Amino acid sequence: MLRDDVRAAMEATLAEIAESGLLKTEQQIVTPQGALIGTAAGELINLCANNYLGLANDPAVVSAAARTLHERGFGMASVRFIAGTQDIHRELEEAISALLRTDDTILFPSCFDANGAVFETLLGPDDAVVSDELNHASIIDGIRLSKARRFRYRNRDMGDLREQLAAAAAGGGRILVVTDGVFSMDGYLAPLREICDLAEEFGAMVMVDDSHAVGFVGESGAGTPELFGVVDRVDVVTGTLGKALGGGSGGYVSASSPVVALLRQRGRPYLFSNAVPPAIVGGSLEALAQVRSGKDARERLRRNADLFRSLMAEAGFDLLEGEHPIIPVMIPDARDAVAMADALRRRGVYVTAFSYPVVPLGRSRLRVQISAAHTEEELRRAAEQFVAAREELA
Ligand SMILES: *Cc1c(COP(=O)(O)O)cnc(C)c1O
Repeated sequence: MLRDDVRAAMEATLAEIAESGLLKTEQQIVTPQGALIGTAAGELINLCANNYLGLANDPAVVSAAARTLHERGFGMASVRFIAGTQDIHRELEEAISALLRTDDTILFPSCFDANGAVFETLLGPDDAVVSDELNHASIIDGIRLSKARRFRYRNRDMGDLREQLAAAAAGGGRILVVTDGVFSMDGYLAPLREICDLAEEFGAMVMVDDSHAVGFVGESGAGTPELFGVVDRVDVVTGTLGKALGGGSGGYVSASSPVVALLRQRGRPYLFSNAVPPAIVGGSLEALAQVRSGKDARERLRRNADLFRSLMAEAGFDLLEGEHPIIPVMIPDARDAVAMADALRRRGVYVTAFSYPVVPLGRSRLRVQISAAHTEEELRRAAEQFVAAREELA
């Protein structure tokens, strides 16, 4: 029972959101996640999931999850340190450490929670955090929860990072530089080598949130630190199990032993939230096993992304340069971008339009995300529909 005045105010806010064209709606899917998805209106080629390696409905991942469900039950009904740790939780943490070549790993219910735990635990009021302006919302919120002094640098701007580091260093205390490994609206990679060089110069630690890279970026799928050859120079890595690594849920912090040990004592989303359910742990273990032997899937993902990029470039679309399977198709005007996404959906292609304030004004785009699960035929068909939709709207 909402008070009438509160209800009216909330309805007015919702109306404002709708009038400014920012109302988010949700597409209902009636099949598992995949390259093709079923909806009430028919089948769509899905170009907007984070299902990079196609593991979200992989038969072996599903079987492992089902087997674990039957062997270990549905839920833990506890936080980890009371009665919520199974042997497989530790097994998964060790498998993540092995992939990332870190000392230890701690699981969280999500990467949002992992980022919510890190800053408050590692930094006090005398310390400083230096953060890229385009970092994920969970990093921004995690920083807000800490009492550390805050510095922000322009996206991937190393000159500005140097200035902010100098300002942070003037105050004394620990300094932590934090960046997304991949910036998800653009598909741009953080220049980790330069970031590590600057951090070293100022005696700062480096943290990378590699949610959009773990499992498929780098030779062995260890992510952006591996790609840039700085695995040994990054102090803290966070990531999600909710994207390439099966797409279930869960997140982690992977780092030196004392960092992880301290997070087990002080990380509030770890201490006060339920353990990751066994089935998710079992499925994620299988997803990691596939990453270990997953050169083929990574190669397929790379080939698919290259193919779609070249088809779209040949067709004259304005793409942001890059090599990541996030391929932004630029359609500067917000209304045009939405109209294009709608036309594509009617033509059997599912892709989301992003506009201000998620991206800068006049930089609207359709963000395509390629999966190893897409077939060449599906990607060609999707690119053809982009051309047809553009003609339809011209
Ligand atoms: C997706 C994402 C998250 C959130 O991950 P969840 O496990 O879904 O909470 C955090 N950080 C980055 C950079 C992400 O892309």
